[in-house]
Amino acid sequence: MTLVDMGIPAVRSGHPSLAGRPDTPLLLDKYGRTARDLRVSITEKCSLRCTYCMPEEGLPPIPVEELLTAAEIVRLVTLAVRELGIREVRFTGGEPLMRRDLEQIVAGCHAAVPDVPLAITSNGVGLAHRAAGLAAAGLHRVNISLDTVDARDFHRLTRRDRLDSVFAGVRAAHAAGLTPVKVNAVLMRATLAGAPDLLRWCLDQGCELRFIEEMPLDADHEWARGAMVTAAELLEVLGTRFDLVPVGRSDPSAPAETWSVDGGPATVGIIASVTRKFCDSCDRTRLTADGMLRSCLFSDQEFDLRRALRTGVDDAGLAEIWRGAMWNKWAGHGIDAADFVPPERTMGAIGG
Ligand code: SAM
Ligand code: SF4
Repeated sequence: MTLVDMGIPAVRSGHPSLAGRPDTPLLLDKYGRTARDLRVSITEKCSLRCTYCMPEEGLPPIPVEELLTAAEIVRLVTLAVRELGIREVRFTGGEPLMRRDLEQIVAGCHAAVPDVPLAITSNGVGLAHRAAGLAAAGLHRVNISLDTVDARDFHRLTRRDRLDSVFAGVRAAHAAGLTPVKVNAVLMRATLAGAPDLLRWCLDQGCELRFIEEMPLDADHEWARGAMVTAAELLEVLGTRFDLVPVGRSDPSAPAETWSVDGGPATVGIIASVTRKFCDSCDRTRLTADGMLRSCLFSDQEFDLRRALRTGVDDAGLAEIWRGAMWNKWAGHGIDAADFVPPERTMGAIGG
């Protein structure tokens, strides 16, 4: 397989096989899982350069003609909900706030599928100016990524000095009613000692904090299994300041395991994607900013929905491609296997 600049697989699969698939409209796969949760990346651009995600110079820009337009995104989201059983939609990137038409995308989806919760995953930079407008457009929730409340660590990790803007974004999200505001923190050795401060800050702000084990999806390819911070290590560090009691998962397909903090009701979550992988209950399907369907973060198998859309394939045909893509989803990632190879796209180019 040859590679292009951005780490995008240059060779893409054609029409996926539906052999053996039962006659159901839902996004079923061969392992009995049904995708209900759609992640839509809408841009590769970002206001930060987190070391576990982006290269210092950012990702090479997707040519504008290859980016799905707002109208195309609305059409695909509508199709996914009405024809394929999707129940939850989250816009991501890159940084979704980098798209000036995010409000238009949200409003279009909300008008078409008003009962489906719409959310964004955002780094929070600049959210203070857009939270009210996004809520008015029909956005329900926001997850904000924040790994540390220490300004120097933040700068080191994101290569930008924007911590105050993220704090303002969190406040604005609350004020706009985009609640519960969840904060996602990637577990890094450099910020592990500050994890209790981050939890304290989130408790004070009324945010639900979830830590995520770092996955081998960084553009710099520095991830190493032996060096990563595990959920077990984090629990030990948090345990020095807080009384944590396990409360399990809210539902079996929720990736986060939760612990009550100091007797509750506040909780902290850990998404142990590497050490306690949850592929067996995965309910995700993904669309990249350039219109490729992916059934898994870690699989390079992609299906070109953009081309199908732009060559006049109707909704029934697009739905069949989507069903086929998911039918062929693999059992799960093998990060722990000796022969594991990271996917060609990095996290920022897939959409986390
Ligand atoms: N820019 C937005 C943000 O940061 O929230 C959305 C895109 S970002 C790729 C989505 C999520 O992926 C963020 O919560 C981020 O922390 C997480 N992420 C990025 N690289 C990761 C990695 N190598 N391992 C685990 N999570 C990662
Ligand atoms: Fe940007 Fe989000 Fe990646 Fe950080 S994690 S570089 S904020 S896309």
